[in-house]
Amino acid sequence: MVSKLAEKRDYYEVLGVSKNATEAELKKAYRKMAVKYHPDQNPGDKEAEAKFKEVNEAYEVLSDSQKRAQYDQFGHAAFEQGGMGGGGFYGQGFDMGDLGDIFSSMFGFGGGFGGGGRKSGPRRGKDINVNIQLSFEEAIFGCKKEISVAMYDECETCHGTGAKEGTHAESCPKCNGTGQERFVQQSMFGAVTSVRTCSQCHGTGKIIKEPCGTCRGTGRVRKTKKYEVNVPKGIDNGQTIRLSGKGEIGENGGGYGDLLVTVYVQPNRVFVRKGYDIYCDVPITFVQAALGAEITIKTIDGEQKYTVKPGTQPDTVVTLRGVGVPNLRNPKVRGNQIVTLKVKIPTDMSERQKELLRQFYGDAPAGAASAAKGGTDDKKTFSEKMKDFFKE
Ligand SMILES: [Zn+2]
Ligand SMILES: [Zn+2]
Repeated sequence: MVSKLAEKRDYYEVLGVSKNATEAELKKAYRKMAVKYHPDQNPGDKEAEAKFKEVNEAYEVLSDSQKRAQYDQFGHAAFEQGGMGGGGFYGQGFDMGDLGDIFSSMFGFGGGFGGGGRKSGPRRGKDINVNIQLSFEEAIFGCKKEISVAMYDECETCHGTGAKEGTHAESCPKCNGTGQERFVQQSMFGAVTSVRTCSQCHGTGKIIKEPCGTCRGTGRVRKTKKYEVNVPKGIDNGQTIRLSGKGEIGENGGGYGDLLVTVYVQPNRVFVRKGYDIYCDVPITFVQAALGAEITIKTIDGEQKYTVKPGTQPDTVVTLRGVGVPNLRNPKVRGNQIVTLKVKIPTDMSERQKELLRQFYGDAPAGAASAAKGGTDDKKTFSEKMKDFFKE
């Protein structure tokens, strides 16, 4: 069972449908497979049981347009733990509605394939989630990104009506196009008027006599849509941009859903971002730390000059104001860059450098010390000695 993920089959292959299969085709294929492998039909057959699970899993993903879009984009990785899709819906049980439908009709408990069914009045289209990758700089300075997403959109052949060219959908005579029928029921409290979904048009309010060949009467087809996303300055890893009305088309005249674009920001080698501040380490030599120096520090705007004060201690923290990340709401306001000065201790000193250093710290070996006394070194200031050291 451990290797199960590794040998996961393609969901379209599992259901035996093409990648462009419509909702209806998927459902049909699923029903066929589910009936074939259902445990009630194959008592004690482990292989059938596994197939049954596989089929359900495939249908669970492909029947949900949002999950299907993610699967089309990322494959199984979309749903693996920690994967981009935020996954983790396996084993949570699939939609029993469809299966209940199959078995009730098989065993004659009313309902059935064509009739009854679920209500299908206007339903708003689904929100579609996509992920994009940004470089560290793109997230800070903003950018434009082209994305293409597969989702249901209006059928161009019938302009979403679902009726064949030259024909049109007629208003349902049973409900007068309202999609609902009223009926009076006798109860012990007298007559009660109830409203239910029209049984003839299933809530659409329309009757399509000749369905459109392209969309098979649904008014929707799967398309790959291209969008240009304006990524605002200052966006951070894991944040989402909402594009209203750019999601999937609804059913039966329901409006469009939204497109939700979540950004993943690649890490930078030098900088680490925390909120609107940028952190980095800058190495300085211990001579620079002791004597002070003019150094340049890399910022996201380019290099900036900085004066290291004499006697700077290791890990001194310096704040460069206003060169951090622009605020998402007000890009003119920017965070800071927080620099930690890392004092580098040399590891490959020459003998002379070592000697000078020993003299500086006053624990020079006897010979070296007396030699130094005779020389000029002891007249030099600390600053000069350090400069000598650095020259070597
Ligand atoms: Zn159509
Ligand atoms: Zn009706």
